[in-house]
Amino acid sequence: MVDCVFCRIASHELGSKIVYEDDSIICFHDINPSAPVHILIVPKHHYTDIMELSSDKQAAAEVLGTVMHAIEKVTEITGVDKKGFRIINNCGFNGGQTIPHLHFHLLGGMKLREKLI
Ligand code: AMP
Ligand code: ZN
Repeated sequence: MVDCVFCRIASHELGSKIVYEDDSIICFHDINPSAPVHILIVPKHHYTDIMELSSDKQAAAEVLGTVMHAIEKVTEITGVDKKGFRIINNCGFNGGQTIPHLHFHLLGGMKLREKLI
């Protein structure tokens, strides 16, 4: 998508601090980190949010498989696999999503305090 900032990062048109990348996913440092380790895990294909992805169950299984693989890679690379971390997906207006391209936040490197549940 032309006007999508994460599509532009995925195609390398926009720069980012990449931690891990393969054909289907790109993981890079959040520009406004909420923790010492704050990585965005971004499937390259443009899905607006997790609801759009879940409307195609086969695609959802494939994409979420790549997300799991990326979580494994990124936690190893950043070292947060040792002490734990948190994965967050904000979906839509009520979920507080600000960039309408499916992504997951990986937060770690400190004892995370703010817990909703
Ligand atoms: P969300 O609010 O869940 O949609 O998360 C969007 C995240 O993208 C925020 O944490 C922003 O700080 C981050 N962000 C926005 N633009 C960029 C960018 N160009 N590079 C890295 N992170 C970004
Ligand atoms: Zn996009």
